[in-house]
Amino acid sequence: MTSPDNFQYPTGPLIIHTTHEEGAVTQTHPAETISAAQPAPAAPTTGQPYEYRRTPLVEPDWTRFPGWRHISRDQWESAQWQRTNCVKNIKQLRTVLGDLVSETFYADLEADQKALATMSMLVTPQMLNTMVPFESMSTDALYADPIRRYMIPVASDRRTDWPSHPYASRDSLHEHDMWVAEGLTHRYPTKVLAELLSTCPQYCGHCTRMDLVGNSTPAIDKLKLTLKPVDRYDAHISYLKAHPGVRDVVVSGGDVANVPWKNLETYLMRLLDIDTVRDIRLATKALMGLPQHWLRADVVEGLERVARTAARRGVNLAIHTHVNHAQSLTPLVAKAAQTALDIGVRDVRNQGVLMRGVNATTPDLLDLCFALQGEAGILPYYFYMCDMIPNAEHWRVPVGHAQQLQHDIMGYLPGYATPRIVCDVPFVGKRWVHMLTEYDQERGISYWTKNYRTSIESADLAALNKRYAYYDPIDTLPESGQTWWAEHRDD
Ligand code: SF4
Repeated sequence: MTSPDNFQYPTGPLIIHTTHEEGAVTQTHPAETISAAQPAPAAPTTGQPYEYRRTPLVEPDWTRFPGWRHISRDQWESAQWQRTNCVKNIKQLRTVLGDLVSETFYADLEADQKALATMSMLVTPQMLNTMVPFESMSTDALYADPIRRYMIPVASDRRTDWPSHPYASRDSLHEHDMWVAEGLTHRYPTKVLAELLSTCPQYCGHCTRMDLVGNSTPAIDKLKLTLKPVDRYDAHISYLKAHPGVRDVVVSGGDVANVPWKNLETYLMRLLDIDTVRDIRLATKALMGLPQHWLRADVVEGLERVARTAARRGVNLAIHTHVNHAQSLTPLVAKAAQTALDIGVRDVRNQGVLMRGVNATTPDLLDLCFALQGEAGILPYYFYMCDMIPNAEHWRVPVGHAQQLQHDIMGYLPGYATPRIVCDVPFVGKRWVHMLTEYDQERGISYWTKNYRTSIESADLAALNKRYAYYDPIDTLPESGQTWWAEHRDD
């Protein structure tokens, strides 16, 4: 894996590039930048930049951790055991890792939690077990681990020059602003996002819904859902019945794995009773983070009832999960995905997040996509650019780098399983990374347009003629761009 410190940012594919000295417009050709963007292939035998070799999934041995030395397979495969033994604080992490990791690491973690973290700590044993999976656990190995980098962030990971972009915000996608009922975001014309609850079985450090999801941290006081769940769900159903133009519901949170199954099934069956709803997508990172949940007998039986009803009514029922690195895929994750497919869920798709130090290199993305597609039965669908939330600059990559990655992963996977890398542009929605209309790479500002109004712009006739800005992380800009931002820091 490429360390973020070794990152080289290509200038990207052919784009319009504005320089500010003279306001001149120049063009950059991909051929000029390819050598900077190519990963150094490890002794290829085919001469290709990426060499595919089938790699079977393996469940790392959890008994390598002192705290789990005596944990049986039955315990490990129990969702209840996994939930009870989640790591929620440094003391619990010490109990599991013992002295495999030095005090420096724990102090670094504590410093992050006290002042910088936007998410509280919650790591399932399943996920912790995929950190440093096949070599000896050590402080250095844990620091360098891609899963650790986003699930257990430490203070020294974060940037000190630009920890947050000046335009970063707590609800960077304005989902809350677009609520049409509590937890129901109507952003796209035909689709809604239904946040049923604000918790997950695991908390990701980069969570885009850090405004709402999880417990408050010293740095972030979270927004609270105030309605009783039953009233919230009623409000969603009423809105959908009154708006037949909405045909697609992403049922999310948080993570639907934290909704008591009976309540989730009731909600889904009510959605299936609305004949204008044609797509239902269940958002659950837990398919990977806690596959034991999706293998529970009552959950499998209930999901089968829902899938059968969806099939009878011609509704596309899918699961969307969130896997960021091939290390996270184990036989148990594949079993959970395959079980969902076997009982009639139409598809299981992955929406990963592109992050420096985690997966933002061509080999990391392709390794992950081949493991998803070839071993786990999960379709590589999207990679989102990490959103502009506070304290996330060390994870974010510039749009030009995302464009280069999209270029570099083409042609290896089947076309239908080649993921799109997308930028979720505030007030716009997701756009493929090559869809920008102009890109100022000196200041790291890309401009985007849109072809629909969100629910807060129904009366804004100019909304479709505007350009909307997205910002690259400042530390990745050329020196002149960084100077410009330093001079305009307080504008
Ligand atoms: S699982 Fe999704 S909603 Fe939950 S913390 Fe992670 S990114 Fe946020």
